[in-house]
Amino acid sequence: MTLTGSMLIGQHAVYGNREAIRAINPATDRPLEPAYHGGSGEHVERACALAWAAFDTFRETSLEVRASFLESIAEHIEALGDELIERAVAETGLPPQRIQGERGRTCGQLRTFARTVRAGEWLDVRVDTAEPSRQPLPRADLRQRQVPLGPVAVFGASNFPLAFSVAGGDTASALAAGCPVIVKAHGAHPGTSELVGRAVAQAVSACGLPPGVFSLLYGSGREVGIALVTDARIKAVGFTGSRSGGLALTQAAQARPEPIPVYAEMSSINPVLLFPAALQARASTLAEGFVASLTQGAGQFCTNPGLLIARAGEALDRFIGAASERLQGCTAQTMLTPGIFNAYATGVSALAEHAQVVARGLPATGPNQGQAHLFITQADAFLANQHLQAEIFGASALLVVCADDVQVRQVCEHLEGQLTATLHLEAADLASASALLPVLERKAGRLLVNGWPTGVEVCDAMVHGGPFPATSDARSTSVGTAAILRFLRPVCYQDFPDSLLPHALEQANPLQLRRLLNGRREV
Ligand code: NAP
Repeated sequence: MTLTGSMLIGQHAVYGNREAIRAINPATDRPLEPAYHGGSGEHVERACALAWAAFDTFRETSLEVRASFLESIAEHIEALGDELIERAVAETGLPPQRIQGERGRTCGQLRTFARTVRAGEWLDVRVDTAEPSRQPLPRADLRQRQVPLGPVAVFGASNFPLAFSVAGGDTASALAAGCPVIVKAHGAHPGTSELVGRAVAQAVSACGLPPGVFSLLYGSGREVGIALVTDARIKAVGFTGSRSGGLALTQAAQARPEPIPVYAEMSSINPVLLFPAALQARASTLAEGFVASLTQGAGQFCTNPGLLIARAGEALDRFIGAASERLQGCTAQTMLTPGIFNAYATGVSALAEHAQVVARGLPATGPNQGQAHLFITQADAFLANQHLQAEIFGASALLVVCADDVQVRQVCEHLEGQLTATLHLEAADLASASALLPVLERKAGRLLVNGWPTGVEVCDAMVHGGPFPATSDARSTSVGTAAILRFLRPVCYQDFPDSLLPHALEQANPLQLRRLLNGRREV
């Protein structure tokens, strides 16, 4: 498939009229063809008009049609074959195996949402039948189901060019809910975005859906992004990226005449607590696991373990020795973009002014290669300096050394909201860990024991979310099937004749949904 440099407004290839965006191969620092000219307000207007026109038809599609559509997107992405892998590798510097794995995850995610849509549990049907003779007042017939919010704007992430970009988790969950999607492509991987965007558009056509179900725009966040978020026809936003970008979009959405929800996943340093007995029993194994997790994918994961918390002692010293030895052998890895590399280098330099460097990885041998870093500081210093808990996106971590359990607790209380918090423990640590759980539950969306936070399973029970600044809305998850709930709202139908009810709420339950009927869950 020849890349054209065009946006997609419904089924139409449209060329932008703003500054050209060219992907840079971060491994060579060379620009890649073709150029993608950014869109303007006029393109946002067209895409929103089309999405709005598609909404009422798309939201009424049957569960089967919508599930088949998601499966069709997966099939069209797979049909892109090696071209997709090669382009994504060139645009991100990520190794082919990683991109292949991510394609599998992206298509698996789409199929998981297809299963979720078919099962219909997300409709959360609740029926309270009429009680005309109830005293002192009769009860009306009341029936509730979930309906989609409306067209959703999705901002592709730089660090997951497939799984959190054009047809990634935000898009899959919004489409599953019945919301048309307009993607604002990330400027770091426009070619990958075009390939995947065309696959989605082909699936829209193959399934006979209205063209406005999906559009793909390029352009500046400050122009196209803000225009999208402030368009009255957009009813929700999905975003993964920087804290400043997520906040700008959240504030724009809140300032609208009709404010809308923004599900922005932004910044997290994912604290890892190393308890004394665990350190005593397996300092070296912990060091090995930590360095592998820290340096995976050049550390460019939102769940990267950027903060270690432990009590001072001989076992911690052994951990530091083993982690330093491992880290010193780690090769510098190409980061996603020159901008992300520069932000990493700046972040590491800034941290070096406040914390001591324990170990560095091998120096860079090519452009945009991030050198891994481990820093150390004392709990008092950490508590006194808010900058020490700023996210450094890349393979950098800070070890906070505490004198005792009281300080460990103070450090945990001091933390901002997180996607994850990890506890490494043995049986002898259980009492200390248990005492900390209420604090950690207040701070994080996912708590792990004796594992590493990188690697986020796409499943029903996953929570990839957490209090600010991990996300802008801690009541949700952006990974896993519960992500669909972000794009739904409940509607109650009172005293409707059966013939006027949506199928999901009809008395005979033709969709065979597991309803909550008069207070009891049907089996
Ligand atoms: P980003 O700069 O936040 O960009 C993400 C998207 O938001 C882009 O489409 C961007 O459009 C748009 N955007 C950014 N600022 C905006 C603003 N003020 N108004 C409107 N739209 C705006 O994120 P990035 O390019 O992926 O990476 C930059 C930094 O984000 C990294 O160094 C890292 O610190 C952080 N990051 C964190 C995570 C995480 O999961 N925690 C993931 C990726 C990146 P434009 O490109 O046109 O501005």
